[in-house]
Amino acid sequence: MADLNTNVRYIKGIGEQRAKSLQKLRIATLRDLISYFPRAYDDRRSYKKIRDLTDGESACVEAMVAGPPTLSRIRAGLELVKLRAVDDTGALDVTFFNQAYRKDSLRAGETYTFFGKAEGALAKKSMSNPVVEQEGARQLTGRIVPVYPLTAGISQLMLARAVEQGLAACQGLLPDPLPDEVRRAHQLCRIGYAYEKIHFPANDEELAIARRRLVFEELFLLALGLQRLRRRRDTLSCQPCRDTELTDFYSSLPFPLTAAQRRAIEEIRADLTAGRPMNRLVQGDVGSGKTMVAAAAIVCAVRSGKQAAMMAPTEILAGQHCRGLSPLLEGLGISCALLTGAMTAKAKRAVLAGLADGSVQVAIGTHALISEGVAYRDLGLVVTDEQHRFGVNQRSALSAKGERPHLLVMSATPIPRTLALMIYGDLDVSVIDELPPGRQKIDTFAVTGAYRQRFYGFLAKEIAAGRQAYVICSMVGEDGEIPDERKAAVEHAKNLQEKVFPSLRVGCVHGRMKPKEKDAVMAAFAAGEIHILVSTTVVEVGVDVPNATVMVIEDADRFGLSQLHQLRGRVGRGQHKSTCILVSDNRSEESRARLKVMTQTGDGFQIAEEDLRLRGPGDFFGQRQHGLPSLKVADLTCDVALLKEAQQAAQALLSQDPELAGCPATTQRLAEMFAANEGALN
Ligand code: ADP
Ligand code: MG
Repeated sequence: MADLNTNVRYIKGIGEQRAKSLQKLRIATLRDLISYFPRAYDDRRSYKKIRDLTDGESACVEAMVAGPPTLSRIRAGLELVKLRAVDDTGALDVTFFNQAYRKDSLRAGETYTFFGKAEGALAKKSMSNPVVEQEGARQLTGRIVPVYPLTAGISQLMLARAVEQGLAACQGLLPDPLPDEVRRAHQLCRIGYAYEKIHFPANDEELAIARRRLVFEELFLLALGLQRLRRRRDTLSCQPCRDTELTDFYSSLPFPLTAAQRRAIEEIRADLTAGRPMNRLVQGDVGSGKTMVAAAAIVCAVRSGKQAAMMAPTEILAGQHCRGLSPLLEGLGISCALLTGAMTAKAKRAVLAGLADGSVQVAIGTHALISEGVAYRDLGLVVTDEQHRFGVNQRSALSAKGERPHLLVMSATPIPRTLALMIYGDLDVSVIDELPPGRQKIDTFAVTGAYRQRFYGFLAKEIAAGRQAYVICSMVGEDGEIPDERKAAVEHAKNLQEKVFPSLRVGCVHGRMKPKEKDAVMAAFAAGEIHILVSTTVVEVGVDVPNATVMVIEDADRFGLSQLHQLRGRVGRGQHKSTCILVSDNRSEESRARLKVMTQTGDGFQIAEEDLRLRGPGDFFGQRQHGLPSLKVADLTCDVALLKEAQQAAQALLSQDPELAGCPATTQRLAEMFAANEGALN
């Protein structure tokens, strides 16, 4: 008896050879097979008489092959099989390119169904490369046919047959992870029907019914898993932080905090004093001042006798946070240390000793903070900055260094609300929806390379006025070559220095430099010793040099919108007017539409929404990065209403049956879905 984990090679009608091919699509088990959903559908239901075919129309034609097909070799690599097919209304000339076998497989006098795009009119009608099958077979024609994502060596038909075999093999044994009463309450079809019809719908209604059910199931299970994690966490207790005064913190800042910053800090203080571990996401646009919010949290934790750790995704960023925060914190009597992989063993040892004995109260660093051998005396607060670069597992590895520490996550990119709900479903969210006063809009232009002389002139003028500029290169590689970010940046910098700006100082940073070298260049740029910094996206997140006012992004069409927004956010951080120039020679409509969004708005949330719409959620966040189960059918851009419905259903079920004792199939499915992070999230 098969179960869903059965290897596909044991499924009747599949066998060793096909199983090997399926492996290429990462289809190993019966579940993989039936969950390999079509990416589209080809509607081949329309039948036409030859007389009624119109030019450009796709339709099925039932017609008899009038004479033996002929094969001609036009030249090497081009073989044509031609035949004439007839019905009682007319004749159709059919041509197959490079399908020599058709000469013998199609026989004069037999009737076939041809499906393809008709060309020509009146007496001269033709089809090229139609789909053909025996009249009445109705596998490839006369129905809606699934279109699967494929790789070489596998045909649509072979996959469709395999799926059919798979569905037959698990008939009646698909456990339904949706409890019956949920299914009924939300008017969803049964699981067997859903799987069958998502592959082989007879009409649009069946497809809609199947899809709705599967989307709901997916979102429901994800919501359920996340809410369960959250409930479990809410039952945990930890020592509350003493409610601490932050008056001296506020007054030691060089500026008053915005109302939005203060609100976020108040929410954090409430969490810290509640006696439960905090799990909070701070979302705010680039430049909204998230670092100060983290600093306030750190002060609270340390004043309650705890240690705090702040983890950033890059050495540059960790170094910058440390340089920025340690004077502030040390002014309040709090000891800080930097910990990164690039430090000397000796320097590291000193910090480790300080963390172990508690004399270092705040550690700021990269993922060196979670490496083995790092032990804290009493880690009470964990802050991760620019969260989407860390997986859930890294977050929890840091948490594991303490005893139920409070967790504060700072997002790098504003995320559309729907996506935030899903990805951060287990977190509380504070939104900083206000920028510090005096920020000017960053003028953004999308130009082609033809404008190069003009914007170089502009750069020179800004620099003459005392400002600085970034020039970002994308990773480019010749065809078939591994993209080399070092080469791109170094060559561009060399060219700018020698040919364009010989009298200015041009610097260069890229990801392949040693952290020490990188830091040295960044420090020189921050100190104004470098006028133009040519860089790869290593400056994408968080880097703060307020005197820089021009951001040039080469090959801007190669970046995601949210990434462009991050990059653009490196300027406009001081009191001077800033400009962003997006250079792209890609004149495709899509690329132009994307860059236009950038010139029209500076609102990161809106840009993220647009990015999600244009690229789809799969690309928006690399799945691996957030470490949560990936979505197969749901599309967060258009299934918003269903998402809400599913979340409410999950909540209702959990209030009624917190341990899901009455729904073993649901529990089982959750365990499988969250297998990768179950341990980590607990
Ligand atoms: P992000 O939210 O992108 O991490 P940062 O925390 O790096 O933003 O802050 C951006 C810049 O704004 C920094 O130079 C910071 O010192 C400054 N800043 C933060 N809060 C305020 C404020 N309330 N008023 C003025 N400047 C601020
Ligand atoms: Mg930041």
